[in-house]
Amino acid sequence: MISLHTSPLDQPGTGDAGGMNVYVVEVAKRLARHGIEVDVFTRATSSALPPVVQAHDGVAVRHVHAGPFEGLTKTELPAQLCVFAREVLRAEAVQPVGHYDVVHSHYWLSGQVGALARDRWRVPLIHSMHTMAKVKNAALAAGDAPEPAARIIGEEQVVEAADMLIANTDLEAKQLIELYDADPGRVEVVHPGVDLDVFRPADRAAARAALDLPADAQVLLFVGRIQPLKAPDVLLRAVAELLHRSPGLRSRLVVPIVGGPSGSGLDRPESLAALAAELGITDVVRFVPPVDQATLARWYAAATVVAVPSYNESFGLVAAEAQACGTPVLAAAVGGLTTVVRDGRSGLLLDTHDPRDWAAALARVVDDPALRDRLAAGALDQAREFSWEATAAATLDVYRRARAGMREAAA
Ligand code: UDP
Repeated sequence: MISLHTSPLDQPGTGDAGGMNVYVVEVAKRLARHGIEVDVFTRATSSALPPVVQAHDGVAVRHVHAGPFEGLTKTELPAQLCVFAREVLRAEAVQPVGHYDVVHSHYWLSGQVGALARDRWRVPLIHSMHTMAKVKNAALAAGDAPEPAARIIGEEQVVEAADMLIANTDLEAKQLIELYDADPGRVEVVHPGVDLDVFRPADRAAARAALDLPADAQVLLFVGRIQPLKAPDVLLRAVAELLHRSPGLRSRLVVPIVGGPSGSGLDRPESLAALAAELGITDVVRFVPPVDQATLARWYAAATVVAVPSYNESFGLVAAEAQACGTPVLAAAVGGLTTVVRDGRSGLLLDTHDPRDWAAALARVVDDPALRDRLAAGALDQAREFSWEATAAATLDVYRRARAGMREAAA
C-alpha cells in the first residue's frame, strides 16, 4: 500500500490524519489475517522514525525519506513525488523478484507513485480516492479554499492509470464515472467498516462518569478534524438557537467537540472557541483534543446524539462508529452519510445546513425519549451493515480479479 501524505501510525482526528488512516490500518490488519503480507509506504515526517516499523502482525510501515521531515503541508507534497517514487522503487529493487503482487494506493498523491510502481513491477494498481477535489469543490463551506486545478488533473491521471478503483459507496462510484470519466468496469464499490469489538454498546452512566459528564445531561457530541468542511460551526450555531428556544436546557446541556485542527483555511479550536463565546455558549461547549479509538468509543456511548453537519463526507466513519455504539446520528444528507445513516431509522438526515433546522432536529431528539430509543435500536441494526472483515474480504477479491485480468491481458 502507499499512503504518502499521512502515516497509519498517526493519531487520527487532527492534521491530515483521519478516516483514511483508520481505513489503511484496519484493512491492512485484516488482509494480514488472510495471510497477505502488507507493506505500507509513507513519507517520514521525523528523523527519529526507524526505516521500518512492524505495526501489526504482517503489517510493516516503511518510512520513505522525501523532502524535509517537518513543516511540509499537503499542498507542497507534489514537489516530493519524484523522490518519494524513486525511494519506493529502490526499496522494492532490493527484494527478490516479484516481491509484490499488487500495489494499492490511497489518495491521489499516492496514486501518482502507484502508477509508476505498477508499470515497473508489472502488477495491478488498485486505487482508492478517499476524497475527490471536484466533489469537494462543489460543496465548499463559505470562505473555504477550493482545491487547485493541479490536484484535479493529478486525480484524473490516476483514475485513468488505475487497473481498479475502489469506491466507498455507490454515490462515489457514480461520481468517479460521471465526473472523472472512469471506466465503469474498473470501479468496484467496497464499503469501509467499523471495528465492532471497539465500537459497541456500553453502559451510558459508566461512560459519563469516566468522562466527567453529568449523568442526566443531554450530550450533543461532535467528533472529527476541525475544518470548515466538517462544519462544527453549524452545530454551535444550532446549539445557541436551541438554548434560545429552550433556556431551561442550559444547565443540562454539554456539547463536546472531540478532535484537533486540520487543513488549510483552518477553523482552529481558538476560532471555534471565539464563536462559542460570541454565541454565549462557552459554558456548554467542551473542547477535547483527539483521543484513541477506545476512548472515543466511550464518548460515543456517553452521547445522547452525535452530530455530523459536514458539507461533504466520502463515507463518514464517525457516523458509523457512533451507530455501532448504539448512539443515533444527526447528519447532513451529503455524500457517504446517506449510505451510513438511515433517515428516521438510525438517525436523522438533514437536507440543510441552516442552524435553525439543526436546532429543530436537535430539539426533536432531546425532547422525545421514545424517538431516541427507537433510533438507538435502529443505529445498532444499521451498524451491522459495516465491518472491516467484509471490507478486507471484498478488497482481496478486487486484488485477485485485478491480477487475473492482468494475466488474461498478457496471454
Ligand atoms: N478519530 C479518532 N480520534 C479522534 C477523532 C477522530 O480516532 O479524536 C477517528 C475516528 O474514529 C474516525 C476517523 O478519525 O475513524 C475520522 O473518520 P471520518 O470518516 O469520520 O472523517 P475523515 O477524517 O476521513 O474526514
